[in-house]
Amino acid sequence: MKPVRVRFAPSPTGPLHIGGVRTALYNYLFAKQHGGTFVLRIEDTDQTRFVAGAEEYIQEALEWCGITPDEGVDAGGDYAPYRQSERKENYRRYAEQLVASGYAYYAFDTPDELEAMRQRLKEARVAQPQYNAISRMTMKNALTLSADEVQSRIDRGDPYVVRLKTPRKEEVRLEDSIRGWVLVQSSTLDDKILMKSDGMPTYHLANVVDDYLMKITHVIRGEEWLPSAPTHVLLYRYLGWEEDMPQFAHLPLLLNPDGNGKLSKRSGDRFGFPVYPANWTDPASGEVSPGFREAGYLPEAVVNFLALLGWNPGSEQELFTLDELVNAFSLARINKAGAKFDIEKAQWFNQQYLKEKSDEELATYLQTYLHQEGIDSSDEKAAIVCGLMKERVTFPQELWTSARYFYQSPQQYDEKTVNKKWTAEASDALGAYAEALATGLDALSGEQAKSTLTEVLEQRAVKIGKVMPVLRLALTGESGGPDLMQIIEVLGRGETVERIKNARQALEGRIKVSGS
Ligand code: GLU
Repeated sequence: MKPVRVRFAPSPTGPLHIGGVRTALYNYLFAKQHGGTFVLRIEDTDQTRFVAGAEEYIQEALEWCGITPDEGVDAGGDYAPYRQSERKENYRRYAEQLVASGYAYYAFDTPDELEAMRQRLKEARVAQPQYNAISRMTMKNALTLSADEVQSRIDRGDPYVVRLKTPRKEEVRLEDSIRGWVLVQSSTLDDKILMKSDGMPTYHLANVVDDYLMKITHVIRGEEWLPSAPTHVLLYRYLGWEEDMPQFAHLPLLLNPDGNGKLSKRSGDRFGFPVYPANWTDPASGEVSPGFREAGYLPEAVVNFLALLGWNPGSEQELFTLDELVNAFSLARINKAGAKFDIEKAQWFNQQYLKEKSDEELATYLQTYLHQEGIDSSDEKAAIVCGLMKERVTFPQELWTSARYFYQSPQQYDEKTVNKKWTAEASDALGAYAEALATGLDALSGEQAKSTLTEVLEQRAVKIGKVMPVLRLALTGESGGPDLMQIIEVLGRGETVERIKNARQALEGRIKVSGS
């Protein structure tokens, strides 16, 4: 068995889509499982689609997810360079080899001539007008022009491309690890351009040449490339590399949450969730597309979520570390059907990973938000707050947004609770409680707070259920949250008393008259 070598081969034409991250992840898992090599190759031969910053973005996104290439543009390696624009010579050489062996040919057609051909074929009601085994005989190329004419056109610098000479009638077969045998009639294939008039190879040629030269054993990529695979099979054959052809595995598409259509940039706008790993600022328009990272997703959660989008472990287990994924992963368990992008599942994963973190680690997130707000907090207090909140939040930013009352007294009070629960009896009981708490050391344990409350309520014969919601309201402004006595412990005696007084004052006019 040859050592496993796989590659992730994005084109830097914009931000890496979250589906691209999944492709990279599956390649990574497969490589690691087989003790193989994961290569990052940048396919930047289409200069018209080059976007500044896209390559850096790809690297950063992979790094954030912990999907680290063993070889590639940054990591280096024996097959460098890993940027196709720096490998031009290879492609030209093999294109010439294909021309010399009769599997490819020069073509001189101008854009107008190509358009005229398409019109002609359309009028003749040809279903798929394309440059192929039949139509090429009506065009300006080395198959229709004399050898002299071809040479003189090249000599005088006429622009030309190199096209693959697809067979007219042949069955092209390939075995895909996910889809099984794929059979295609060559009559449906077009004579793909291999070298463009700017001297750059197209994706097809560069991709096959590099997979061969970089000794790639498995090509794991998105299903959108399946239609290209038969052309690639022909190229392997015509270049004499059939023995070394990699095993193909085309991954199922990512679909919108409703199952309708492919997940795209537009889906993100429509459904209101990120479709990129990190924020992306379009260099031309300045438009910012939101990313998972900035939305507060943890990389572990994103990786776990993506792993299960199209692959299943064959068990009930849902939570996997990257190492566990490496062990459990298999191409055989990748589904054929498209995978619906279920953002709620991503949120669930985030919650799981967030609450796994230690209070101290979460405190570093909280401290960042506190700094931004100009609030000083001891690490100890921040850690306690995080400990109380972590079961209740999905994103790190909520450690601040849902818990600001630990640091700031409430500015408003939950209307519903005010309307339903703020009675004279409850407000008076709160007043009595504040009075009972008023003296003593500031440090107050949850138990002390609780026993004082019980005493006060017993004396007044008020049920605790009537007071708890308004006490929470007075202290936090909210109707729900972590254990109230623990909140009091964090706030301390002075702050608790103060907040009760403030609330009673602010809500004085809102006393609910019984029966109203
Ligand atoms: N450059 C192609 C892309 O942008 C690579 C496809 C492949 O993996 O063959 O996705």
